Amino acid sequence: MKIGIPKETGDGETRVAVIPSMISVLTKNGNEVLVESGAGDRASFTDDQYREAGAEIVEDLERLYGQAAVVLKVLPPQINERMGAHEADLLRESSIFIGFMSPLTHPETVLKFASRKITGFSMEFIPRITRAQGMDALSSMATVAGYKAVLIAANQLGKFFPLLMTAAGTITPARVLVLGAGVAGLQAIATAKRLGARVEAFDPRPAVREQVESLGAGFMEMEVPKDMETSGGYAREQSDEFLKREQETIGARLGKVDAVITTAQVFGKKAPILITGEMAGKMRPGSVIVDLASEQGGNCALTEAGKTVTRHGVDIIGAVNLPSLVPFHSSQMYSRNITNLFKHLFPAKESVLDFNDEITRSACITHNGEIVNEMARKGRLP
Ligand code: NAD
Repeated sequence: MKIGIPKETGDGETRVAVIPSMISVLTKNGNEVLVESGAGDRASFTDDQYREAGAEIVEDLERLYGQAAVVLKVLPPQINERMGAHEADLLRESSIFIGFMSPLTHPETVLKFASRKITGFSMEFIPRITRAQGMDALSSMATVAGYKAVLIAANQLGKFFPLLMTAAGTITPARVLVLGAGVAGLQAIATAKRLGARVEAFDPRPAVREQVESLGAGFMEMEVPKDMETSGGYAREQSDEFLKREQETIGARLGKVDAVITTAQVFGKKAPILITGEMAGKMRPGSVIVDLASEQGGNCALTEAGKTVTRHGVDIIGAVNLPSLVPFHSSQMYSRNITNLFKHLFPAKESVLDFNDEITRSACITHNGEIVNEMARKGRLP
């Protein structure tokens, strides 16, 4: 079987789906790996390293797509400017695509895949079960984003994060509020603590308080209804009444906070607004909000994805694709996740996809000319 690894084409994208040290996982059962020349450049992996690892470097992308039975990517298929074609059209008929497919925001790709009998596996749909943890690319990328968000906040803030006792006086530690303490939020808390900030956090899922406190952060007190978590570990969509109370609780703190990192998301829905424009206006001038939910609409009403806007002296950073700002380790982590999925799908030479398996079934979006994922078929998430 030939496996293709093209260079990512998205704006500002720096990651590569598989790094050289993982190539041997793919070649193990006699597979051949074709890597587009320069695929790893922006993540500091050279063509020579891929060659030494046993891959063939291919200049001609048409050949790579034309020969590959399986294509491994980070981003969903999109218009490839160099080829003047959509990547979903470059894939061979009946081939297999594995990557972030974002099927609900890329319905045209899902339809193309179905019509061309391409089997599409979406990294977003890896089930959150213990067995699949090593394939959980959403968590890997959220870890990177949470870390980088804090560094961006620290960089933007005109203040120190740590307590400093100097001959020029004592500097009090910065106060950081982290809203949403899932994978990204917990990493943001840990990073802000390492930098010496005083951190407080909130998440409506009941299990989170202990995790937040174990990192040495305070938990924002607020009454939370019982059924706030789905069986899949995600937060349920909250009522307007709950969000209003949450906004009031957050609002009471904003005047004392230097940086807010927002990561609150409800899988498949628009992100909840936790900070209204009016609330942001009550923050001290020079404060910073880094909004990690900006691509889902933002947790702050003033957020503009991909931009920094300044209102009433407060910088609101609409953070997008932060994993691309840490390309080496993002690629390393993603690479481990996608090769683990590959090994799971193809455990031996000439294995056949086993749709009785939960991971294979859950992650598959299209197969045999059909949209097999119910959410993608309906074009929405639960
Ligand atoms: P996510 O990116 O969907 O959401 C981020 C966080 O926002 C979540 O913690 C959510 O509870 C929180 N949130 C939603 N509405 C909010 C609101 N109004 N105010 C504040 N916070 C709000 O979630 P995620 O980080 O990808 O994962 C969530 C959880 O899933 C994890 O913490 C973990 O418990 C579970 N998980 C399990 C596995 C596994 O079992 N393999 C893997 C990864 C994650």
